[in-house]
Amino acid sequence: MKLVTRSQWGARAYRKPNGATPYGRSRRGVKVHYLGAAYSDRTHDKCAAYVRSLQASHMDGNGWSDIGYSFVVCTHGYVYEGRGLKRRNSANGNTTLNDENYAVCALVGSSGLTEPTDPQLDGVRDAIEHCREQGPAGDWLGGHRDGYATTCPGGPLYTWVKKGAPRPKEDTVTEAQMDEIANKVVDRLLSKDAFDAPPDAADYKPTGPQSTWSGRTVFRDLVVRVRRISADTAAIRKKLGA
Ligand SMILES: [Zn+2]
Ligand SMILES: [Zn+2]
Repeated sequence: MKLVTRSQWGARAYRKPNGATPYGRSRRGVKVHYLGAAYSDRTHDKCAAYVRSLQASHMDGNGWSDIGYSFVVCTHGYVYEGRGLKRRNSANGNTTLNDENYAVCALVGSSGLTEPTDPQLDGVRDAIEHCREQGPAGDWLGGHRDGYATTCPGGPLYTWVKKGAPRPKEDTVTEAQMDEIANKVVDRLLSKDAFDAPPDAADYKPTGPQSTWSGRTVFRDLVVRVRRISADTAAIRKKLGA
């Protein structure tokens, strides 16, 4: 997991005592969120500043004691530590819901960038597994909207969450597919008119004369020549021996 700690993203100190409130129960699982506002993708060097602005809006706008989420995941798959594993989040809607599940937010908007990127899905998956293994959290998984009236985390993320938050498909090539590709490459090379005709092509029977020479005809020609040389050598040996 590409974890970005609070000190690495330049988090402000959280307010005490509320920001330090620990979980009152073991976590059932993880709720996934999105921003629910316009978001435009940006280069990764701008992500930490965005997370700082998110924290500022939660602390100064909402009056919360810290950024609301347990973790935040940028489109490049980095996982920013929010309230982390031990301190209760404030993003799930009310104290009971906050106590029940971790809150992981993907930097995806309700307009602008509305589809999570593949690295981001990997990052959210990383955060979910981190919560389960280190939290600890149970294997319940859902969106903010589960049990609370909101459209969060938006259609694309919610669909993915309901599928169990699978990692994006990796491009795996099987041995059989590799053989097929290799055969096609060789076939294509051999069928291209990629070699010059031998200077004495016209003298050659039965392969010549050829008007055009592909890799295949050159190869066939070589085989014919080698066989002819073998036959000649055998004949000479026989004569010398006789
Ligand atoms: Zn939400
Ligand atoms: Zn980023």
